[in-house]
Amino acid sequence: MGFLMFKILKASFAAGIVTTDYPDRPMDPCLNYRGRPMIDFQKAEDCMPAAQVCPTAALTVQDKLDTREVVLDYGRCIFCGLCAEASPDGAIRMTSESELAVRDRSHLVSTAYYRLDETGKQQFLKMASANQSAPESEEIVKRELKGKIHRILGRSLQIREVDAGSCNGCEVEITGLNSPVYDAERLGIRFVASPRHADMLLVTGPVTRNMESPLRKAYQATPEPRLVVAVGACGCTGGIFGCNYSSLGGVDQVIPVDVYIPGCPPPPQALLHGILLAVGRLGEKLRH
Ligand code: SF4
Ligand code: SF4
Repeated sequence: MGFLMFKILKASFAAGIVTTDYPDRPMDPCLNYRGRPMIDFQKAEDCMPAAQVCPTAALTVQDKLDTREVVLDYGRCIFCGLCAEASPDGAIRMTSESELAVRDRSHLVSTAYYRLDETGKQQFLKMASANQSAPESEEIVKRELKGKIHRILGRSLQIREVDAGSCNGCEVEITGLNSPVYDAERLGIRFVASPRHADMLLVTGPVTRNMESPLRKAYQATPEPRLVVAVGACGCTGGIFGCNYSSLGGVDQVIPVDVYIPGCPPPPQALLHGILLAVGRLGEKLRH
């Protein structure tokens, strides 16, 4: 027994400190991590082949006479990369960016308009919105999460996780928050067993019809000012499941959402990023 303990201690010392200091410093993405797709809307010659292979309708193309509307919705995107493979001109590329959380659902959507020539090629006209830079991402990394939580809450942030119909991929990433690498407790973030003890609900899944009532009850049981964070493509919009006989779609179809965290699943640093954005919103709620 003593020898085993010695071996564990030796391995621990050899590994050194593995805990990240995110968000004080940005984290490098894991090797081969596939983040969001980026579209060079001005360069794109034909978005139709990419939209046709998109499994969640995150990328859509609508033609009306000689004009074309192209919409990219990160709230639906599962970062599968099929659109980039089907992009004949290389205008769509996959990135390693994952910190995409936003407070306003519409900030996840970019829309471009084109004129169609006689050969069916699209010529760029204008953007209706250009949110591919996710400005809230940069803001968050510059702030100190721990200080902000303590300033606003005067104590730690208690989170109740609610699985409203997830495939559990998002739960695996949420579990990673308590790993030695992310160690959410160093930031004052703790997971609790009851919504009655929680400041925030972290909700995954496309909200199955069976989970609608438990989710409403969890929301009502959470003391105000409560925060709700929708996790993953499913939590944002229903994701790959969408809205169907057994699924209601995104979390905001059932309860109000303060922050949306895209991804399928979002990695732990993307979750931390979204949690900080939500804490900022708590400050606003307390002032009113
Ligand atoms: S990465 Fe996948 S889900 Fe996202 S827009 Fe491209 S094809 Fe659609
Ligand atoms: S977003 Fe992806 S990983 Fe998360 S529950 Fe939905 S399908 Fe699973």
